[in-house]
Amino acid sequence: MSSSCCTETQGREVGRKTPPGPILLLGAPGVGKGTQAKELVQIWGIPQISTGDLLRGNVAKDTQLGRVAKEIMGRGELVPDSLVNEMVAARLLEPDTANGYILDGFPRTLAQAGWLDGRLAGLPQGLPVVAVSIQVNYNQLLRRITGRRNCPVCQRIYNNYVNPPQKAGVCDLDGTPLVQRADDTETVFEERMRSYEAKTAPVVEHYRGLGRFAEVDGDRPIAEIAAGIVTAVERLRK
Ligand code: AMP
Repeated sequence: MSSSCCTETQGREVGRKTPPGPILLLGAPGVGKGTQAKELVQIWGIPQISTGDLLRGNVAKDTQLGRVAKEIMGRGELVPDSLVNEMVAARLLEPDTANGYILDGFPRTLAQAGWLDGRLAGLPQGLPVVAVSIQVNYNQLLRRITGRRNCPVCQRIYNNYVNPPQKAGVCDLDGTPLVQRADDTETVFEERMRSYEAKTAPVVEHYRGLGRFAEVDGDRPIAEIAAGIVTAVERLRK
């Protein structure tokens, strides 16, 4: 591979002709948005902005937002648009977002999508968003959600069924005991799916209608899905 055609990011070489710009990862709970966002961070060198992670950070720090969000998240419902938009607005002001970012879990309602579209349209320069929807069937999602565990230190995500750690219950990278998210139970999953169908599925249709949109099959090995996303984004950016 010639160095003129490629960018090297944290040990991985990838062909990259255009800056990725803002990327939206859409899809039901458990499709692997977080896992794919982490792969794409390595490939593109732009940050992952996960609204779920930002909200959990607020809950852990017991901020005013965290206190409001905690119960709502515990029920599997959506945190009010105004609070989430404000949190995203603050994050997008940080300088690491200049060449693009991967929004993971946002927008989740048409109101959030309208807010984001308006904000991006108001910027003097910058690429338009590319939206990627990851597809996985319901039974597979349930298995992924109830099997999901993550390392509270390095944030690596495992799955007891499809991507288990080498030693049960312990992170391969730093030996920390793995934890399960409070909302990754079957009952809360059902509520999260209801909220996805009612509020987030229309967001997928909104971005499909705008054109810069790709759908990828999320029921494949992690690296294969990431490669599919990179190919789709490069095609849509041409
Ligand atoms: P996630 O980690 O993306 O699965 O999000 C976990 C929970 O955080 C969701 O079930 C919601 O309660 C809340 N949440 C995350 N992102 C959003 C968003 N864009 N809008 C409203 N609530 C959100």
